[in-house]
Amino acid sequence: MTMTSNSDQAVCTVCRKQKNELRPRASRLLAKSQWLLCGECIAGKKEPRFAIIMAGRMMKQQGNQEGLKIVEEYIRLGRYVGDEILAKELVVT
Ligand SMILES: [Zn+2]
Repeated sequence: MTMTSNSDQAVCTVCRKQKNELRPRASRLLAKSQWLLCGECIAGKKEPRFAIIMAGRMMKQQGNQEGLKIVEEYIRLGRYVGDEILAKELVVT
């Protein structure tokens, strides 16, 4: 696999891989946000890792238990790419 440093090819917001086919998808966690996702991430119903953390903090701050359940479901089912999201990352400071 070769890495081209000066490529303008878009990367998937979730898996950060360069793909030829990316499709805009509205976020299910953050209102008014849209990502460019590859087919794999769309099929896996994934959200960007940072979006899950942001949404989790927001729900906690708002005391939105329903919203928090949805966020925790994403974490439990592993619907993101990258390091495991830890409970402490959702703590609002
Ligand atoms: Zn992807």
